[in-house]
Amino acid sequence: MTPPRLLIIGPQGSGKGTQGQRIAETFRIPAVSTGDVFRQNVKEGTPLGLQVKAIIDAGDLVPDELTGAIVRDRLSQDDAAAGFLLDGYPRNLGQVGDLDAFLDERDEPLTGVIELSVPRDESIRRIAQRAAEQGRADDNDESIAKRLAIYESETAPILDVYRERGVAFEIDGIGTLDEVFERIITALAERGIVA
Ligand code: AMP
Repeated sequence: MTPPRLLIIGPQGSGKGTQGQRIAETFRIPAVSTGDVFRQNVKEGTPLGLQVKAIIDAGDLVPDELTGAIVRDRLSQDDAAAGFLLDGYPRNLGQVGDLDAFLDERDEPLTGVIELSVPRDESIRRIAQRAAEQGRADDNDESIAKRLAIYESETAPILDVYRERGVAFEIDGIGTLDEVFERIITALAERGIVA
């Protein structure tokens, strides 16, 4: 059996947060979402939250060192020993290098990289819907456009790295939550990653 050390990647509005939660529950591993960590800190007004609020609201990326330290700290906790699901990290090639350095040292490489693919217009439609429902401060037109542009220019290229390593696979993100989840579970099982 292959341990579930997973990463889910997809554009904003691809449903990766929701799918990530379900995967984590199924495998009984923590879902580590850097976006959630930042949002929680902003909400609580912690020093980290105050430091990153303006960056997040503008749709820019938080500096790599800061984000990397949060992820290393979280992955070092006991509940991540059997596996974990990363959502929203790494997000650029620099962060891939940072994560590699950390995981290589532990001899615990990622075993599965799930690429949730959703066409751009669908992605925009879903973010607009979420903005209406949840009122996230960073779900304004300017920030959304910037985040999608950053996804395409900085995040999508990291998939090439993971494809070359043979750990990445693409999942069609169009369909019901259950349909997409089934596709993910099936693809993981094909790679020996079973709950
Ligand atoms: P998300 O919920 O993953 O879309 O993240 C929301 C925001 O948090 C992003 O637009 C960034 O400002 C910040 N963020 C989340 N993950 C990262 C990351 N890996 N590197 C830098 N900034 C991040």
